[in-house]
Amino acid sequence: MSYVDRVLENLKAKNEAQPEFIQAATEVLNSLKPLLDKDDKYEKNAILERITEPERQIMFRVPWVDDNGNIQVNRGFRVQFNSAIGPYKGGLRFHPSVNLGIIKFLGFEQIFKNSLTTLPIGGGKGGSDFDPKGKSDREIMAFCQSFMTELYRHIGQDTDVPAGDIGVGGREVGYLYGQYKRITSLYEGVLTGKGLTFGGSLARTEATGYGLIYLTNAMLKAAGKSLEGQTVVISGSGNVAIYACQKAQQYGAKVVTMSDSTGWIYDKNGIDLDAMREIKEVKRGRCKDYIAKHPDAEYHEGKGVWTVKCDIALPCATQNELNEQDAKTLVANGCYAVGEGANMPSTLEAIDVFIKGGVLFAPAKAANAGGVATSALEMSQNSERLSWTFDEVDAKLKGIMEGIYDNMASAAKEFGCEGNFVVGANIAGFRKVAEAMIAQGVC
Ligand code: GLU
Repeated sequence: MSYVDRVLENLKAKNEAQPEFIQAATEVLNSLKPLLDKDDKYEKNAILERITEPERQIMFRVPWVDDNGNIQVNRGFRVQFNSAIGPYKGGLRFHPSVNLGIIKFLGFEQIFKNSLTTLPIGGGKGGSDFDPKGKSDREIMAFCQSFMTELYRHIGQDTDVPAGDIGVGGREVGYLYGQYKRITSLYEGVLTGKGLTFGGSLARTEATGYGLIYLTNAMLKAAGKSLEGQTVVISGSGNVAIYACQKAQQYGAKVVTMSDSTGWIYDKNGIDLDAMREIKEVKRGRCKDYIAKHPDAEYHEGKGVWTVKCDIALPCATQNELNEQDAKTLVANGCYAVGEGANMPSTLEAIDVFIKGGVLFAPAKAANAGGVATSALEMSQNSERLSWTFDEVDAKLKGIMEGIYDNMASAAKEFGCEGNFVVGANIAGFRKVAEAMIAQGVC
């Protein structure tokens, strides 16, 4: 049995109830085979065994009082996965689907994503099964304060630096930061995605979506194509989807769909982003509210954006939102490029369809690394107690995303898998972390 198969078998036996974590590990480990076959130092140093086991996993009770005076209890998590190349870094997700397996898959992905940015950040992730949907501001604050009352002892600007993810945006980061400062008396860059009045970075809000388009554009350019005049299908309507849509439109593409967990919009004239931003960012409303302003657009309940004919698909909602059948439909309809804005939005089977179908496929850990890369730039600004202009940060972000494209493309080529960016991104991300782990000895 090969080294990879042995480690995967053991991992499956030990983590039976964590299918998303197993899925993420299977994708990464299988694609490392060309590297592992070439050099046995990874096996000798038990790198796969070590890299798939989090350095630390913290689970805690989060009690809070709702607006009716009732006590609610949620579960909080922080998985500190790997600190070989820097302090743990990764977002917090507040969503009812959150459990240890979800946080482990996200934390595992984060190790390689953060390595790809070339910045000194390790991998971590956290969150809670708390559902922010429909909660009042006061309830959100009460929850965030309680969450931080436990989390603060495990984090710090040089230890572990959380940020946002699904359900955690500027408002939540603000409440979390306030509580951290209150408990510790430290005014430090312990969280990223902060408000601009207290250490946040310009362009951080836009960064994941913009970065996705910068990387997708670099991939298209290398194939002699561009976004100009292309029809783009986007899923999701959160921060990643909104700013991917904005940048894609600036590059001359026509974005025709957006979605949320209840349904999706198809606007053949192109999404009116100002209308969508007003609904999502100001009113915290639903996609179906778009119809009031654009009665000629279509609203459909449930899933369905992948049935829309397009040139480029950008899944920006959540994990496993694009399955094998969706991938086949996209390919049959002429979609030739996919950039993953969400974390692990395509199933393993869907990725297979894309790769075998010759689709230009940019995997999440490369394509959505712009968010965390800009978080690391926020950390730099906090450390030097300066703030950079929007254009400065944006230019750095663009350079980082183009660098990631070059890095994954050349790693794929080096290992005989030209054009397979899953292999390229995983090998390029893994190599740096593995080298650091070997150099630091058994720890
Ligand atoms: N949650 C984002 C991600 O998945 C950003 C994390 C961060 O900024 O630390 O990469």
